[in-house]
Amino acid sequence: MSTPRIPSLVRPLLCLLLTALLLGCGDAPSATPDIAPIETTVARDIFATLTAEVPAATSVPTPTPTLTPLPYNIYFGDLHVHTSRIHTTAAFHEEFGRGTIRLAHLHARRVMQHDFIAVTNHARLLADWMWEVTKDVADEFTRDGEFISFPAFEWTASHSCGTHCAPARPDYPDWGHRNVYFRNTDVALLPLRCNDPNYDTPEELFKALPGPDAATTIPHHTAHPQHPFDWSTLNPDYDRVVEIVQRSGSYEADIIRSGWDNGLLLGVVGGTDNHIGAPGWPEGITAILAPTLTRDALFDALLSRHTYATTHGDIILHFFGDGEIQGSILSRRSSIKLSGDIESRSGDISLVELVDNGAVATRWSPDQAASFRFEATQQVGEEPHYFFVRITLENDHQAWSSPIWVNYPTPAPTPSPTPTP
Ligand SMILES: [Zn+2]
Ligand SMILES: [Zn+2]
Repeated sequence: MSTPRIPSLVRPLLCLLLTALLLGCGDAPSATPDIAPIETTVARDIFATLTAEVPAATSVPTPTPTLTPLPYNIYFGDLHVHTSRIHTTAAFHEEFGRGTIRLAHLHARRVMQHDFIAVTNHARLLADWMWEVTKDVADEFTRDGEFISFPAFEWTASHSCGTHCAPARPDYPDWGHRNVYFRNTDVALLPLRCNDPNYDTPEELFKALPGPDAATTIPHHTAHPQHPFDWSTLNPDYDRVVEIVQRSGSYEADIIRSGWDNGLLLGVVGGTDNHIGAPGWPEGITAILAPTLTRDALFDALLSRHTYATTHGDIILHFFGDGEIQGSILSRRSSIKLSGDIESRSGDISLVELVDNGAVATRWSPDQAASFRFEATQQVGEEPHYFFVRITLENDHQAWSSPIWVNYPTPAPTPSPTPTP
């Protein structure tokens, strides 16, 4: 388990580098994507500077023993970060070429001390060579037991994508934004672009993906006023978790109303969705509950919804239903024992709420507590119930567990990967 800390020496250096990179103090802009030499040179310089200055990670704190033996560790990271502020193709290519994708990885690993990352640049802006760079950097930074990077891109199906189609399609439907993640880089697939007529509907996107064992998708900002999500497009094979918090706010109310209350089995993650290559900043972190820090273990945990979301990575949240971990779907029973074990390292816990089918069932207000445990037995009368925990700190940071579903039919097992010809 690791938790994010920002070494004070590093922050000014990083800010300087970020400013220089993002404000364009480098070579004169080039309209062509002939970026590889620049990308290589700049990335090498940044890498050398940062790795020389950043102290090695310190040992991670030992968590408080929990009520239940744990089959997992908790790993933190940002699954939703972009490396360019720019949304026009030529300018995006220029920024992409400045080593920012490596800088994002360095920021995650060395500055935030995260365990994983996924850089989710907009597929419609990614030239094929950029997708190759994305995969190469993901492999370069992936070290089992140390740090994991998933190849990913964003498929942005909203009217804003329509304006990038040729010819422009201002009537492009608001199907919503999804990030697409791959288990590993053994994927021949090129980015599926929302402005490509072959992949401009959710059905075409899902049809093109290599199967839910190899790829998964995560919808985000589901109730954004300008870029909402069309819940009728939800695909239970691919959409296993949903982003509940990011820089534009919390979407808990919409996920309850449009997702969980309609029986959808979705775990929760947090992401920043920042466009400056700074994972984990300012808000939105995913915790993945997995036995080991490998791509397979993290990806399997995402598929099984064993996740939680925080606005700040320093909240430890264990949540169990009859001993099963959050994200679990439990078979028929008339009552359930729910238990939680919470620890905050960044501010006292002011409120813990146990939510039953969208309504607060029990509310605890610990008094200046850095840790809190609860147990509650809930009668469910053999009806479907979903339970989750919402935590609020005195400094207003929050965390949400993934639900535990009771008396829900168990979904079919994940289909095996489609054999590649
Ligand atoms: Zn988006
Ligand atoms: Zn995004």
